Amino acid sequence: MGGALRDELLGRPGADWDVATDARPDRILELFPGGTYQNRFGTVLTDGVEVTTFRRDHAYGDHRRPDAVTFTDSLDEDLARRDFTINAIAWGRPAGSTDASWVDPTGGLADLGARLVRAVGDPDSRFDEDALRLVRAARIAAQLGFDIEPATRAAMRAHAGDVRYLASERVGQELRKLLTARPPSSGLRILAETDLLAPLFPELAAQRGVPQDKIAGHDLWDHCLATLDAAAHITPGDEGLLLAALLHDTGKPETFANGRFLGHDQAGARIARAFLSRLAYPSRVVDRVAGLVACHMFRYEGAWSDAAVRRFMRRVGVDLVDDLLVLRAADNVGSGLPPEAGALAELRSRIDEVRMHAAPLSLRELAIDGDDLVEALGRPPGPWVGRMLERLLESVVADPSRNRREILLDDARTWRADE
Ligand code: ATP
Ligand code: MG
Repeated sequence: MGGALRDELLGRPGADWDVATDARPDRILELFPGGTYQNRFGTVLTDGVEVTTFRRDHAYGDHRRPDAVTFTDSLDEDLARRDFTINAIAWGRPAGSTDASWVDPTGGLADLGARLVRAVGDPDSRFDEDALRLVRAARIAAQLGFDIEPATRAAMRAHAGDVRYLASERVGQELRKLLTARPPSSGLRILAETDLLAPLFPELAAQRGVPQDKIAGHDLWDHCLATLDAAAHITPGDEGLLLAALLHDTGKPETFANGRFLGHDQAGARIARAFLSRLAYPSRVVDRVAGLVACHMFRYEGAWSDAAVRRFMRRVGVDLVDDLLVLRAADNVGSGLPPEAGALAELRSRIDEVRMHAAPLSLRELAIDGDDLVEALGRPPGPWVGRMLERLLESVVADPSRNRREILLDDARTWRADE
């Protein structure tokens, strides 16, 4: 029932099945002795399938979770508490009948056919009960490519401010799903149209109306969405890159002065970090995205020496450099340019060349390590070791032929003397 049937009917199978029954939880556990309770509402997990007793919700005191639930024998009552008509379709045996059939008391099958997200019953009360439904409406419409029925949409706008009741990690989970929509901008556009964008993601909303002279008639928000969609086109399913595209210019609103955006890359990296941490993204995603945003303003020229290419790779980080070029390609498209503008293809092949010659770019690849330094210089370990290794690496990035033990230790001794 619910979301899984919706997806099955739309030919997007793969969703988790939710099963509901008039059996009470203790009876379900008798029938499936291996089952375990999953939550305080008596949902039982057995063999990976969630089995829930038909229930009725009671008053939603916190705009999120019902204060209590009672079990019921009626499938119709269970469907009536669900959020959208397309999520309130069941396949089962209506009470008093022996044959299974569609159970669709809210007209979900018709809305599925008309490709509409419509609240069950009175939209105002549904959103008032549970503010998460506001975000779910936008996310589900985007994922399915559906419209939102007008009365439901109007109620979303009226209740937009209620998203302040939501836990931000829960919002983060919805954002994760929303960005899987094709194109990923579609859910964000719905959030903007229903006034949900500013209370949910003020960093993104701040981009609206900021001028850009890239594509005629496009402001910074349009540029952000176009870059996001281009990133999804270039590397579908790469969440980190999508987020980097989404957030790459979030430093612009606060740095805008005299028609310029000085330092917006660093400001954007800080904003991206705070945004993603708040939404409980894993720290490796946060680091990767902030790193990409911080470096996105490079400007390659054919006159760069090989040493300059190596320094660039070292500054960005060998692990991030390929992603950074993808981000730039998306940024190019979002700016109305060909993807490879700025001689990206040339830069890419020069980077490949450096890799082929295995020039060291990280401390790991240096011919000596900290222990070697401590021993050779006869000095106790301390912060000087890290500083010295960094300095040696810089010299090797400039001239890879110096990556030999004797040379590096010699350098270290000389520098030690003039420290
Ligand atoms: P997805 O699985 O893609 O996240 P879904 O709609 O299946 O989307 P689930 O969290 O799996 O969402 O929920 C299963 C079903 O429970 C939904 O289809 C809907 O019928 C009901 N449901 C989920 N969340 C709510 C809610 N906040 N209010 C009312 N009903 C809900
Ligand atoms: Mg589901």
